[in-house]
Amino acid sequence: MANTYELSDGTRLKKSTIDRLVKECKDRVSQAVINDQGYLVCEDCRRNDCQPVERSHNISVDMCQKLGVTEYAYADENITHRGQPCHKIYDSKPNRDLINKLLARLKPNSNQF
Ligand SMILES: [Zn+2]
Repeated sequence: MANTYELSDGTRLKKSTIDRLVKECKDRVSQAVINDQGYLVCEDCRRNDCQPVERSHNISVDMCQKLGVTEYAYADENITHRGQPCHKIYDSKPNRDLINKLLARLKPNSNQF
């Protein structure tokens, strides 16, 4: 099937479904933080002027799809709130330790990134 991506259990999802699940995941994660602390702040630097706060993937959607662990694209623990400056820094130099830790939890025997 065209334009589908694999989950770790071998099932495949359409890109449109993945996109919807990613959006729902981001909204769910933000709402949980708002409910808990009342506002969103950059989790990397904790500065109030690190704005706007965005929902950043620790493991990019693209990488989740390529690695065949697409369900991680919409896993709550794969989302971190980062202000735009920190988001850009993160995306230019992803945290390999964090990525490997998250991947190990999902797929114990998977190759390291
Ligand atoms: Zn920041």
